[in-house]
Amino acid sequence: MIIIMKPNSNEEQISSVVSYVRQHDLEVHLSTGKEVTIIGVVGNKDKINPEHLASMKDVERILPVTESYKLANKKFHPEPSTVKAGNTTIGPGNLTIMAGPCAVESEEQLMLIARAVKKAGATFLRGGAYKPRTSPYSFQGLEEEGLRYMQNAKKETGLSTICEVVSLEAIEAAVKYVDMIQIGARNMQNFILLKEAGRSGMPVLLKRGLSATIEEWLNAAEYIIAEGNPNVVLCERGIRTFETATRNTLDISCVPVLKEKTHLPVIIDPSHSTGSYKYVPSMAKAGVAAGADGLMIEVHNNPACALSDGPQSLTFEKFAKLTSELRPFCQLVERDF
Ligand code: PEP
Ligand code: MN
Repeated sequence: MIIIMKPNSNEEQISSVVSYVRQHDLEVHLSTGKEVTIIGVVGNKDKINPEHLASMKDVERILPVTESYKLANKKFHPEPSTVKAGNTTIGPGNLTIMAGPCAVESEEQLMLIARAVKKAGATFLRGGAYKPRTSPYSFQGLEEEGLRYMQNAKKETGLSTICEVVSLEAIEAAVKYVDMIQIGARNMQNFILLKEAGRSGMPVLLKRGLSATIEEWLNAAEYIIAEGNPNVVLCERGIRTFETATRNTLDISCVPVLKEKTHLPVIIDPSHSTGSYKYVPSMAKAGVAAGADGLMIEVHNNPACALSDGPQSLTFEKFAKLTSELRPFCQLVERDF
């Protein structure tokens, strides 16, 4: 449930409501807006007497939160959240562009790509050091060595860095080298990994599972936040449908739906959702127009020779052309880029 306090209620009234709730072994999450404070309550609400609560001074209204996700719920936190990672702020007013190779292949390759994406306006370098591949015989990633290259690329370019993690061991390594960790589509409901990501305290990019509903996705985010880590960003990367003309189907409508249901920032990945470099620019623009807070785009110095996801990777020229074309879209939706 949420307790909505009267506009401009004073600290003392807010604290007495908070203490009443805490006395009954329930958890409290405060959202302090410009005028209104909302007290979110998590736990078995049968323990408290709603009439007593409603009669407390400055309590305006008590509303049930019927959704199973609470901390990710917009009702708990009506203002959109901002997530900070490295030198970058993801959230309202900005368009965050994360770009880089699907997989970190070598230090030279990563440096070349880092310089090119930075020049074209990206603020984040992406690069997979642990690759969850469909086939066990495909390139699996450079692991910790790849993370070290990410750290070096950050030192040289100042870009913030993000890398996918697939295990507790990978999280423990990633916290030493990168600014943000990514939970991939295949692990969206790996609840042990979600909890560990929550405990790591690192900002987390949570990709949507291949066949996950928005509600399942928000519950996955709840697992991370429930560990005390509110720094979660959602990433739509296409879902599996009957359509085979694209690798996945970009569910662009998830952006307005998520904006209604959650305060968490949302970014669009036009690379994995289409599977072809040809469709990436249109879907990137659609994502910005729909209200996304950012984009994650695969870029490679030589897509034809990439060790993974070459067909969907943009060349440096195509990426620079796309970012220049995105600027007018950003102006229309009032986002800095
Ligand atoms: C990736 O970002 O390289 C990746 C594997 O993405 P997804 O989990 O969306 O397939
Ligand atoms: Mn990829």
